[in-house]
Amino acid sequence: MILGGRDTDLVLLDENGIRCDGRKIDEPRKIMIKAGVLKNADGSAYIEFGDNKIVVGVFGPRDVHPKHLANTDTGILRCRYHMSPFSVEERKKPAPSRREIEISKVIKEALKPAVMLEQFPRTVVDIFIEVLQADGGSRCAALAAASVALADAGIPMRDMVSACAAGKVADTIVLDVNNEEDQAGQADMPVGYMPNMEKITLIQLDGVLTPEEYKKCVETAIGGCKLVYEIQKKALTDKYFSNGGNN
Ligand code: ADP
Repeated sequence: MILGGRDTDLVLLDENGIRCDGRKIDEPRKIMIKAGVLKNADGSAYIEFGDNKIVVGVFGPRDVHPKHLANTDTGILRCRYHMSPFSVEERKKPAPSRREIEISKVIKEALKPAVMLEQFPRTVVDIFIEVLQADGGSRCAALAAASVALADAGIPMRDMVSACAAGKVADTIVLDVNNEEDQAGQADMPVGYMPNMEKITLIQLDGVLTPEEYKKCVETAIGGCKLVYEIQKKALTDKYFSNGGNN
């Protein structure tokens, strides 16, 4: 039995290589994505990524307010990641925290290389992310859902942006770190990835890794992104092709 992290009662990885939630080291949590869930948004998506539950609404391209933010050469992207007060165990204050401001920024930066904003000068595409329930890895889940919502809005994109984290738990690199592993583990690395262009658009690291572990962690996360990509595609084909395109 391997104990890991600060809470020594928590078995992060047992002698059979099984994690605290019963997964193998290379196994993601259950993922479900549904496109087009909000009738008042131009595009939308809902994702369940393990116990994360997140809804995303996309609006635009539309006029920019305030007007001075408009760029005559290109469209702009705005993103708001927000956790509802009931999304975590203790009530979260509804005002934007530093963490939410940071995550809004990194998700926007992760989507920007994929969105053909140059086709819509003077306009804005707004992405609103509402986390209804958070369980570790919510920025990856939100990024994957936002990418589907952008595609659902018909915004031209060079590629989807997929996302999945990897991390280090009980000295082992594992795929898709959950909340307990994030709190008690040794490292967490969220990755955003364009699967067809083979480009990383987001990489963050909380923790310490050796160069070899870092490489393995990136490879593991990219493997997870490829799995998420298949589920993103299915969400869109389910909406647009499962009913003769009449959805
Ligand atoms: P991510 O959700 O992308 O992994 P973090 O690593 O910052 O982002 O957060 C990990 C997890 O910690 C979140 O998914 C959530 O479950 C929990 N968490 C974040 N903020 C709060 C908060 N204000 N109160 C309680 N739990 C929180």
